[in-house]
Amino acid sequence: RSNEKESMFLVSEYAKNYFSDILWNNEKGKAIGLSYFKERGFTDETIRKFELGYSLDEWSAFTDAAENKKYEIEFLEKTGLSIVKDNRKFDRFKGRVMFPIHSMSGRILGFGGRTLSTDKKAAKYLNSPESIIYHKSKILYGIYQAKQSIAREDNCFLVEGYTDVISMFQSGVENVVASSGTALSSDQIRLINRLTNNITVLFDGDAAGIRASFRGIDLILEQGLNVKVVAFPEGDDPDSFAKSRSSEEITEYLTSHSQDFIQFKTSLLLEGTKNDPIKRAELIRDIVASISKIPNNIQKEIYLQECARIMNISESVLFNELSQILKREN
Ligand code: ATP
Ligand code: MN
Ligand code: MN
Ligand code: MN
Repeated sequence: RSNEKESMFLVSEYAKNYFSDILWNNEKGKAIGLSYFKERGFTDETIRKFELGYSLDEWSAFTDAAENKKYEIEFLEKTGLSIVKDNRKFDRFKGRVMFPIHSMSGRILGFGGRTLSTDKKAAKYLNSPESIIYHKSKILYGIYQAKQSIAREDNCFLVEGYTDVISMFQSGVENVVASSGTALSSDQIRLINRLTNNITVLFDGDAAGIRASFRGIDLILEQGLNVKVVAFPEGDDPDSFAKSRSSEEITEYLTSHSQDFIQFKTSLLLEGTKNDPIKRAELIRDIVASISKIPNNIQKEIYLQECARIMNISESVLFNELSQILKREN
């Protein structure tokens, strides 16, 4: 089994180098893949740093090249790079720009591939399938490039997508990783927690995105980390936001819009309740439920005081609610 893993890592490393070589040296790779990344504003240095690549729009260009180099179809299939069907072999990532996904120590675990086709039926991103080396709930895109900066800054920015990581990094914010479209998992949080106790979640600027991430954020609190959040202007994600701005403007925005999560959630939910007493009661339960996840009692107390202040109610009401939630859970 460890041999099997090793063979899968070797195939993945070869694939990363192959896709990168196509991007930089193949005529179609340059005209299609490299131009795409350049149009998105990525510099040569950035493209090399993240080892981006291109998979030709042919049925089995990659698989053929790999087999010629004596990589075995067994491992090409197990990593999901190749698909075997009716005795014929296909490239999974045909015609896509490639984002290799590194482990903390820099091994290639898998790939994300973005379609360049405008056909709405094509999935925008395709990822490696689950395997003994690729567990999507245990990977964080960008962790290899970001780890030193996360430790140095003692904070980790968490974004949604590949291009958000890359654009922020290029703008000088290097302590950034993405959950890559999956809901944030405890394993991912543990990975960050090896480097820092502080996470700042950057939301895409749409209400759905913000609410969807509340559950993941409760998980962060449960594991005893501190969470801040930054909301972007409506319609922007960190990538599109970074595009038209200098690194000073971006850093300034992040600093001035960074809010404590509990305060953010309280104010956001408060906006929706007006003076409806039933909704207000619901809101109180919701917030206190988040606070109840925090393992540290002193921190819990501080948050209760904060919320009481923001909602203009007595602390004892919140404290009673908290006691009830904790009782129910034990
Ligand atoms: P881009 O800027 O290239 O259009 P994005 O990163 O802004 O892409 P979003 O639609 O915001 O894309 O999605 C965020 C992340 O969710 C993506 O980076 C990707 O990891 C994941 N994702 C999006 N669409 C899909 C899909 N169809 N299948 C699997 N993962 C997806
Ligand atoms: Mn989105
Ligand atoms: Mn996005
Ligand atoms: Mn985007």
